[in-house]
Amino acid sequence: MPDSVVTRFAPSPTGFLHIGGGRTALFNWLFAKKHGGKMLLRIEDTDRERSTEAAIAAILDGLKWLELNWDGEVIHQYGLAARHREVAEQLLAEGKAYRCYATAEELAAMREKARAEGRTRLYDGMWRDRDPATAPAGVKPAIRLRAPLTGETVVEDQVQGRVVWQNENLDDLVLLRGDGTPTYMLAVVVDDHDMGVTHVIRGDDHLINTARQKQIYDAMGWPLPSMSHIPLIHGPDGSKLSKRHGALGIEAYRAMGYLPAALRNYLLRLGWGHGDQEIFSTEEMIAAFDIKDVGRAAARFDFAKLENLNGHYIRHSDDRSLVKMFEDVLDYVPGRAELKAKLNDGTRAQLLKAMPSLKERAKTLIELIDGADFIFADRPLQLDPKAQALLTPESRKLTGQLLSALEKVETWNAANTEAALRSFAEENSLKLGAVAQPLRAALTGRTTSPGIFEVLDVLGRQESLGRLKDQTTT
Ligand code: GLU
Repeated sequence: MPDSVVTRFAPSPTGFLHIGGGRTALFNWLFAKKHGGKMLLRIEDTDRERSTEAAIAAILDGLKWLELNWDGEVIHQYGLAARHREVAEQLLAEGKAYRCYATAEELAAMREKARAEGRTRLYDGMWRDRDPATAPAGVKPAIRLRAPLTGETVVEDQVQGRVVWQNENLDDLVLLRGDGTPTYMLAVVVDDHDMGVTHVIRGDDHLINTARQKQIYDAMGWPLPSMSHIPLIHGPDGSKLSKRHGALGIEAYRAMGYLPAALRNYLLRLGWGHGDQEIFSTEEMIAAFDIKDVGRAAARFDFAKLENLNGHYIRHSDDRSLVKMFEDVLDYVPGRAELKAKLNDGTRAQLLKAMPSLKERAKTLIELIDGADFIFADRPLQLDPKAQALLTPESRKLTGQLLSALEKVETWNAANTEAALRSFAEENSLKLGAVAQPLRAALTGRTTSPGIFEVLDVLGRQESLGRLKDQTTT
């Protein structure tokens, strides 16, 4: 291991931070933390047409939400183009690269011929040894790497093992285009080198690029960083991850009410294991993580597992931080703006009181919000169809009797309302359940809720009695 480990996350801002990108960032972050190193962030915005400011903002926001903080300033690849050009010029000056004047038509014909002959080497080396003096007028040359024609390009990948390419199958790649813009291949190598990156951890869709990048490293005489290509995330059936199966931006997971800690834990466990341990605190993750333990098989995304894990994290979160998360997530949940407006010290205190019970039933923050709806409901309550059905004329009469019984409670709390309701049930030879159901419907507008005495306690005397009055017919 080098003295100081430097990893990097290098997203292209052509879309939002995808769940797979989040996992790549996590692995880079964990690896850096484990070795007391740094994780740098490089935005690969060289594709000017497809890169957007909105995507950059979403990536930064997604990483921050996942609590995967990078070290130092964000590096923008586009801003480093002059340095990329300088390296291409250096290779040119050293004879390790050359100018290629092939026209678009010539290149197209070359490609077609190669394909027809079943060759993967698409460029035929046309200008490799040709005298530039014979260059056609008006063609702006590209700069191509003078890649080895024979032998092998070998990379010892930490996840994929030894990967070997036959050089005869790799053509002389373009470093600088005719218009002077650097190619992605060149930019990545120069930046990783200049940033002092010691370990590259990225999706295995980039494995194919590694041979080309290794050739650039070799030409420059730079050491190749340690390479780890992690398998992509697939759908539960092994197919490419679809939207329905979770191919969403990180912000969608936030809006679905997942906790960052749960998502990190889930993403870690996707294709990486440590015995049969399922739950990892951040410290445990850092201690246990080793990139070499990442499997080579595609990881399969499983929403049900993520939900269960999230439920675990919610149950084990402290009540105050859940109130905070509840409040924060409202900005991202469509149609919940009105709830945000109802948050004040009073409702926050009610929420905190109800939290021990609410969190037992919620797998996501959305379920937590749904469970807490009764706190924020306006009088008279809108009853859901089940509650509506339950509140028959007869049970509305019962509600009236319960109202009178509860009005007598002096100090309003869960224990005293329980005592009052129990003695009411006894006196009237009713089961507690028969009393609790209409009460629940009248107090929450639903047929499921936290324990009824807790509901009474959370709502308080005035609101509880008011809600009962609203549903009472005498
Ligand atoms: N920018 C590339 C991507 O978003 C990653 C390149 C790399 O990690 O080397 O897929």
